[in-house]
Amino acid sequence: MARKKRTFADKVAKGTGPRHAICPVCGGGIQIIKVVKPYLVDDEKKTYRYREEITKVCKCNEKEVF
Ligand SMILES: [Zn+2]
Repeated sequence: MARKKRTFADKVAKGTGPRHAICPVCGGGIQIIKVVKPYLVDDEKKTYRYREEITKVCKCNEKEVF
């Protein structure tokens, strides 16, 4: 079991994968979330469409996103 633990620790140490990303500004973990944003397609008809965006959220910008 010790072997398995070590492998996991190595992966984390290398920082592979965005799920374990740490923000260099606030030092907090970065969360990957999906945000649905409306955007105007036709100004006269007031037609909106929704677009899904993948956003990285940490303490720096969580207030802007939520
Ligand atoms: Zn941050």
